[in-house]
Amino acid sequence: MSRLDGLRAALAALERDHMRRFRHDNEAPCSPRVVIDGKAYLAFCSNDYLGLAGDARLAGALAEGARRWGAGAGASHLVSGHYAVQSALERRLAAFTGRERALVFPAGFMANCGIVPALAGRGDAIFADRLNHASLIDGMLLSRAGAHRYPHLDLAALERLLATSKASTKLIVSDAVFSMDGDIAPLRGLMALAERFDAWLLVDDAHGFGVLGPRGRGTPAEAGLPDAASEGWRLIQVGTLSKAAGLAGAFVAGAEEVVEWLMQKTRTYLFTTGSPPALAHALLTAIDLIEEGEARRERLAALTGRLVAGLAQRRWKLLPSRTPVQALVIGDNAAALALAAALLEEGLWVPAIRPPTVPAGSARLRISLSAAHAPEDVDRLVEALNRLEEAL
Ligand SMILES: *Cc1c(COP(=O)(O)O)cnc(C)c1O
Repeated sequence: MSRLDGLRAALAALERDHMRRFRHDNEAPCSPRVVIDGKAYLAFCSNDYLGLAGDARLAGALAEGARRWGAGAGASHLVSGHYAVQSALERRLAAFTGRERALVFPAGFMANCGIVPALAGRGDAIFADRLNHASLIDGMLLSRAGAHRYPHLDLAALERLLATSKASTKLIVSDAVFSMDGDIAPLRGLMALAERFDAWLLVDDAHGFGVLGPRGRGTPAEAGLPDAASEGWRLIQVGTLSKAAGLAGAFVAGAEEVVEWLMQKTRTYLFTTGSPPALAHALLTAIDLIEEGEARRERLAALTGRLVAGLAQRRWKLLPSRTPVQALVIGDNAAALALAAALLEEGLWVPAIRPPTVPAGSARLRISLSAAHAPEDVDRLVEALNRLEEAL
């Protein structure tokens, strides 16, 4: 068999197992109203939790940034591709999250898979929640450190692993809000274990930044984790700027020495071209919109409550979650796909998430809500799901 025949067979196997993925060309800007092949759908798919991706003020800031700073960065940050506006954004993010310093990356995936190997290497030990995001898992594999995955949210199991570890450098790694389940890591418990076993704690707040905590400062702020001045130095916080912030990029925030070390050693920072400075210009506006976005967060919380109440007491169960990520677990891949297809027929777009993104046998609809949804949008989805549950 030729190499290409091998790939053809592997692709056919994906199709057969309902694992093949397809893209859909949206003909409209990001919002819950999408247009595919000229047909309008109401979508519950994006991570644009505050509805900022389509916000005119933010689009205006991006255009203004391009006029002021041009198009590209021209080089990597440590050569000549770093701009004053990017340092200003880093200072803004540090102040906003209450950490000493922040470093901005072009993407959350790059931040995570670079930071983990910069913090732990051969002979060290990493302790990771089983449901961590792929970027954290890949960072762990790249690091060559000993990898210890503990059952989801299980502090007692983590404690046992930490207690038996002989590694001198220990790094605990967890999503703050889990991307496919919507539940929240026990950050105070993780911090207590980090202190007790003298470990670093890396928290990926991709889905909490902008959404949770006072003024959207994120999950660590909501949990009341210590700030930079006290024991907070062991907390290394990642946030993405591609979800609630409505644009693209990510940041890591922490103690001055930690961030300086990461700037020196993170290969995905050193060996990539800086993101366009216009983006940093627009992100400064995004942080303002997040900070003054109390009404958006209240709207989002109300929509979440409306969805949860509407789907209570059904056969299909929502996983417990108070975030805008709501997982309706169906189980079987084909059944989850059939439900998503039936919704699509009605003009409702909710993605079916299958393994390997989620564990085998837990295929689900991942319903994500945005402040850009209207209450009637949620009612339409609830009505359709309740009706299809009877029919399917
Ligand atoms: C989306 C996501 C990332 C990656 O961020 P990007 O900016 O999209 O690359 C990292 N971690 C988690 C938990 C995510 O959900």
